[in-house]
Amino acid sequence: MQRILVSRCLLGHPVRYDGAGHGPFDQLQRWQAQERIVALCPEVAGGLPTPRPPAEIPGGQGALVLDGDRQVLTVQASDVTAAFIAGAQIALRLVAEHGLRIAVLKARSPSCGNLQTYDGSFSGALVAGEGVTAAALRRAGVQVFNEHQLSEAANALAELEQAEPRG
Ligand code: SF4
Repeated sequence: MQRILVSRCLLGHPVRYDGAGHGPFDQLQRWQAQERIVALCPEVAGGLPTPRPPAEIPGGQGALVLDGDRQVLTVQASDVTAAFIAGAQIALRLVAEHGLRIAVLKARSPSCGNLQTYDGSFSGALVAGEGVTAAALRRAGVQVFNEHQLSEAANALAELEQAEPRG
């Protein structure tokens, strides 16, 4: 059975920087009942506490953080890059361990965002870009969706399972 990496905050776990969570989402609850979900909060797994100061990537490109060309900074300008990288590395370990091909991650997060992130100005401005973990997963060949793309994720799952021999 194909398993799916999911942001812990989308499962209602109170791991967001402000101590909140999100959901519930019917599709995620179905996948949980099927024991398909591998849950991860990259920021907490990378060593950050909850609650924690909000953080953004100047320019909003997580791939540049992976390449060592950008830092992740809190609103007080503390460098939290190492924790974000550590969280992405843990995500990659889970991918290898569980043979993951699909992830559903929280939109717009500097770790988890797959299409947009905040631009580093802490003004709420968004740019096209990925969070650090989302970029690492994409580079590893994982299809990354967000909570607004659950039907696309379900379609991708169905396609993968059709293509796989049943065993
Ligand atoms: Fe954790 Fe990602 Fe949710 Fe942020 S968006 S709280 S890093 S799971």
